Amino acid sequence: MEHPLQKFRFCPCCGGRFVENDFKSKRCESCGFVLYLNAAASTAAFIVDDGKLLVVERAKEPAKGTFDLPGGFVDCYETAEQGIEREVLEELGLTVKTKKYIFSNSNRYVYSGFTVHTLDMFFECTLDNYSDIRPMDDVANYKWIPLSEVNPVDFGLESIRQGVERFLKEKCI
Ligand SMILES: [Zn+2]
Repeated sequence: MEHPLQKFRFCPCCGGRFVENDFKSKRCESCGFVLYLNAAASTAAFIVDDGKLLVVERAKEPAKGTFDLPGGFVDCYETAEQGIEREVLEELGLTVKTKKYIFSNSNRYVYSGFTVHTLDMFFECTLDNYSDIRPMDDVANYKWIPLSEVNPVDFGLESIRQGVERFLKEKCI
């Protein structure tokens, strides 16, 4: 398995040789600085109305053009709940009314040639208003798909695909 800091060859403090400390950290041979890389927190929302799931189309790589769930990285100083609320607002212009954490999945994807390790946290969300949807940011389009017609294969990111499979299974669909 590739070390998560493989691309980091030099110490960010002094420029010294950065060597493997353990499976998730590196240490500087010159100044002793140690850097740990943990999974980045990320969120995804299941929004269901009238038996239909709200799915979005990815406007950017990775997996551009495939289906996705609304969501994204949690910012520093933010809770997961605040993160999912912000992402739904930024991507769709929608206000989350209630959000309930349901499960998580670990994910990796390549961005800018770097493998980003994430912990995707899935939430079931309800909204104040289901009609006034404005796709923005990294969302090209959106669709309401009847739960019985949702096909996990259409979701380009592996972790999201697995999350959709699990969600449908738990809903007995
Ligand atoms: Zn150093």
